[in-house]
Amino acid sequence: MSEAKKPVPAKPAGGRAGMKKELPEHFKSYKHVWVFVEMERGVVHPVSWELLGEGRKLADKLGVELAGVVMGPPGAETRAAVAESYTYGADTVYLVEDPLLTDYRNEPFAKALTDVVNTYQPEVLLLGATTLGRDLAGTVATTLKTGLTADCTELAIDDDRSLAATRPTFGGSLLCTIHTLNYRPQMATIRPRVMAMPDKDESRPVGGLIEHPLNMAEDDIVTKILSFIADQDSDKAQLAYADVVVAGGLGLGKPENFKLVTDLATVLGAEYGGSRPLVQKGWIAAERQIGQTGKTIRPKLYIAAGISGAIQHRVGVEGADCIVAINSDPGAAIFEIAHIGIVGDALTILPALTEAFRKRLSVNRMAG
Ligand SMILES: Cc1cc2nc3c(=O)[nH]c(=O)nc-3n(C[C@H](O)[C@H](O)[C@H](O)COP(=O)(O)OP(=O)(O)OC[C@H]3O[C@@H](n4cnc5c(N)ncnc54)[C@H](O)[C@@H]3O)c2cc1C
Repeated sequence: MSEAKKPVPAKPAGGRAGMKKELPEHFKSYKHVWVFVEMERGVVHPVSWELLGEGRKLADKLGVELAGVVMGPPGAETRAAVAESYTYGADTVYLVEDPLLTDYRNEPFAKALTDVVNTYQPEVLLLGATTLGRDLAGTVATTLKTGLTADCTELAIDDDRSLAATRPTFGGSLLCTIHTLNYRPQMATIRPRVMAMPDKDESRPVGGLIEHPLNMAEDDIVTKILSFIADQDSDKAQLAYADVVVAGGLGLGKPENFKLVTDLATVLGAEYGGSRPLVQKGWIAAERQIGQTGKTIRPKLYIAAGISGAIQHRVGVEGADCIVAINSDPGAAIFEIAHIGIVGDALTILPALTEAFRKRLSVNRMAG
C-alpha cells in the first residue's frame, strides 16, 4: 500500500473543514453568556444554579459577562431568584416581571425570552433540559431561527470562540459535538445533575439588573390555566438530588426481590431507583429509572445491585462520588466504573448490608 492510501485518522471533534467560519456581520454584536433561571411557583429549579456554575466557566473563557434571565410574577419570590442568581455567579440579571408569567405557559415565556434575546443579544443561551426548559427552548430557537443542541452532557469553548455542545446520540453509543456556526445565540439545554452544583457565594457583589417589559395581554394568550394540581408523587425530583441512591437491575431476578433494594435505601435514608428493563417490566415507576433516558444522578454514594453497567445506564451515574457495584459476574461492565466492587449474589449481599448498616447506624444514633 502506498503512503497516500493509508487511512487518514478521523478529525477530532471540532474539526469543521470546509465549513463557513466567518460569522455574518449582523451577528457580531452578540456577546455574553446567559442562563435561563427556571422558576415554578416561586421555586427555582436547581439546574439553573448548576448552569450558572458552568456558564461562569464559559463566560470567563470568552472574557464576557454571565447573566441570569429571571421571569415571573411581580413579588418577593421573583426578586429572591434575582438575588440568588448573583450568589451563584451572575454578573447581571435580565428580569421580566409580569402577572402573566405566574404559571408557565409557552406563549408568554417564549415571547419574553425572545424579546430579551433580540434586544440584548447574548452569544450563548443555556436552559435546563427539564420539561419546562425543553418546551421553552424549542419554541425560542425556532422563533429566533437559531441552532439548539438538546440534552447536552458537556459544554466547551472552541479556539474560534464558538460553543462546542456535546450530547450522546445513537442510544448513547456515540457522543457528538455540535456547533452553531452562523447563527446567534448558540442555544443548548443541559440535563439536571450533569453539571456540578457551584458553591453559593453570599459575598459576591450584587450585579446589574436590567428590567424588560412583557408587553402582552391575557387575550393574546391561547393557553389558559384552569387549576394547578400538585404532583402527588412528590418524591419524583428527589432521586436526581439525593446524596445516597440504591438501585437494582435485572439481576434481582423477580419483582419481589426489589424489596431488598428499598430495604437498604430505607436504612440508609437513601432514594432508590433502577435500570430501564425494570421500568419496562413494571417493577418500578418510570421516574425511578436511572440513565440516559431516565434520571442523571450525582449522589455521594451509589449502590448498584444486579446491574450490568450498559453505557446507557453508566452515563446517568458517572458523576457519583463513590460507586459500589454488586454483581455475580466479575466481567460485568459496571466494575469498570465502580470504586468498590463486590462479586457475589445480590440476593445475599443486599440483606447483609442492610443488617450491617442497621446495626452500625443505630449504634451511632445511640452514641449521638
Ligand atoms: C436508546 C436506549 C436508551 C436506554 N436508556 C437506558 C437508561 O436510561 N437506563 C438504563 O438502565 N438502561 C437504558 N437502556 C438499556 C440498557 O442498554 C441495558 O439494557 C440496561 O441498562 C440493562 O439493565 P440491567 O443491567 O438491569 O440488566 P442486564 O444487562 O440483564 O444485567 C443484569 C446483571 O445482573 C447480574 N446478575 C444476575 N444475577 C445476579 C445476582 N443474583 N446477583 C448479582 N448480580 C446478578 C448479571 O451478571 C448482569 O450483569 C437503554 C437502551 C437504549 C437502546
